[in-house]
Amino acid sequence: MSQEPTSSLLLSTGQNRRLRYAGIGFFAGIGVVSLAQNDFVAAAHPYGPFVAAACGAVIAIVCAVFALYTIRCPNCGLRWLRWSIGNRPANDWLHWLYRFSVCPKCGHRAN
Ligand SMILES: [Zn+2]
Repeated sequence: MSQEPTSSLLLSTGQNRRLRYAGIGFFAGIGVVSLAQNDFVAAAHPYGPFVAAACGAVIAIVCAVFALYTIRCPNCGLRWLRWSIGNRPANDWLHWLYRFSVCPKCGHRAN
């Protein structure tokens, strides 16, 4: 009888919060970029739309890079988010990330 781990490795290592906060930050950055199109931003300051677009883009990029580089295997260092985006189907990478229980590189298992 094999002992299959029942817990997600992402959840058991506590990195689901990191992914959630990075996702919220990423979409918040996109939201700030979309503010650049509003008239009240342009009315507030001539450079308002540029500043909103630049700040939003920086927020979104920093959050995405943070998630790509910090969500990793504690045993071998494999960047799980990056691996899942590169190796899973486009409609499954996020779902896989929340349910995988064995590291695809080193075989590290959830407790
Ligand atoms: Zn690993």
